Amino acid sequence: MRITVIAGGVGGARFVRGVREWARRESPDSTIDVVVNTGDDAWVAGLRITPDLDSIMYTLAGVNDEQRGWGRVGETERVSAELREWGVGWPWFTLGDLDLGAHIARTSWLREGLPLSTAVERLTARWPLGVRLLPATDAEAETHVHVRDPEGGDRVMHFQEWWTRHRAALPAVRFEQRGVEQAVPAPGVLEAIGDADVVLVAPSNPVVSIGTVLAVPGIRDAVRGTAAPVVGVSPIIGGAAVRGMADACLTAIGVRTAADAVAGHYGARSRGGVLDSWLLAEEDAALVDDVRALGLRTEAAPLWMRDSDTSAALARDAVRLAGVID
Ligand code: GDP
Ligand code: CA
Repeated sequence: MRITVIAGGVGGARFVRGVREWARRESPDSTIDVVVNTGDDAWVAGLRITPDLDSIMYTLAGVNDEQRGWGRVGETERVSAELREWGVGWPWFTLGDLDLGAHIARTSWLREGLPLSTAVERLTARWPLGVRLLPATDAEAETHVHVRDPEGGDRVMHFQEWWTRHRAALPAVRFEQRGVEQAVPAPGVLEAIGDADVVLVAPSNPVVSIGTVLAVPGIRDAVRGTAAPVVGVSPIIGGAAVRGMADACLTAIGVRTAADAVAGHYGARSRGGVLDSWLLAEEDAALVDDVRALGLRTEAAPLWMRDSDTSAALARDAVRLAGVID
């Protein structure tokens, strides 16, 4: 089976790990392509950083810091301390020493003129990930946030500054993905979506992870046009964004933090949206009829990804809801 996942960082990584685990157990001939958000990417201290791609790479490689939730396990921060002394980079954005190795390798390839997708191919070749990671685009189309500053006036800042430095606490007015109009999908992205047997939308941030992937010209149309069933998994459980601040993003675009509202935001393909089905959390089972009324197939299932068994079971439920397995 050819499985394509659209994903952001940490939620996406947990989900993809579950898809890989399910496929290993029950569908070992499957191939898994992951189209990954690049809207969070940035230039920091002269280096190109790609947080969501790295979260997935480290998680699938088993070198991620499970406790902290991001970055490499056994990380040290000596270089970052030096950079801070010199006032280089973002003092509120710590780059671990091992992580910096990846950023230096990536940046050196980019400076040789290679596209991001080739850099990703080279970085991920180090580990037997069992999935192919595709950046949504090779173009730099970074998410910026227009915020209402409580001290007065409106400001625009890079998504990382809003998210990491301000913990999404400054009220966002809107998101802007600079230059996305000129971006094109990275090589392999449209084929991965168009030729898939099933497309899975990970339980990632609907606005700044999935929304930014779909905003790359051509990707939304590819999802709308694929012959494969498209299934989304709710990142909202019991009316709250688990392990994150996704509600701050949803509020900014006028969508309630509720599983049915997010489903309605994506919309049914039959009504101009991108989904055929929506997997709800069992805590939100009362919303089944509301989601059906949106023109989506739906079902309630356990959506907490606690370990490899719960994540694999979730992947199985998503693939089954797509109708491609019994
Ligand atoms: P980021 O790029 O690191 O912010 O990660 P993503 O955009 O991929 O995912 C963040 C979202 O994942 C959060 O808003 C959560 O709602 C969702 N999430 C995290 N853990 C879980 C989980 O165990 N189950 C489900 N259903 N969603 C989760
Ligand atoms: Ca992210």
